[in-house]
Amino acid sequence: NGDPSEEVQRAQRAAAGRSISSPVPPTIFTRIINKSLPAEIIYEDDKCLAFRDVNPQAPVHFLVIPRSPIPQISHVNTGDTELLGHLLVTASVLAKKEGLSEGYRLVINDGKHGSQSVYHLHIHVIGGRQMGWPPG
Ligand code: C5P
Repeated sequence: NGDPSEEVQRAQRAAAGRSISSPVPPTIFTRIINKSLPAEIIYEDDKCLAFRDVNPQAPVHFLVIPRSPIPQISHVNTGDTELLGHLLVTASVLAKKEGLSEGYRLVINDGKHGSQSVYHLHIHVIGGRQMGWPPG
């Protein structure tokens, strides 16, 4: 059907709001990083942290985010190569720790068409059930 899901509608509102806001405002993830908003943090180090998604889409669903507020994957440059590698390796290590031995899905939503709703780069790690393909 043609009705976008609530998640897509939220993402579209976030994308629409961005064009009028400059410079990049802090997001809700900044508050999770500085601990002014509670989250179930499962890992942190000097470059990143990982916490459980408040609206899980599978039995296991957590997010890996950089401490530095990169808004989205389409904004990275070669200077971010090491950090991005660290985020991916962290996602893999944590997926193993979470018991996702049958596999899992990593997702990075970008911008309006990607249904990104929080403009602080994050890798979704989703698992514990069979995933479908293609994604919606
Ligand atoms: O990729 P996208 O930007 O759409 O994903 C944002 C994710 O952040 C959502 O899955 C949402 O449930 C999650 N979230 C969260 N804690 C918050 C706000 C959003 O885990 N306080």
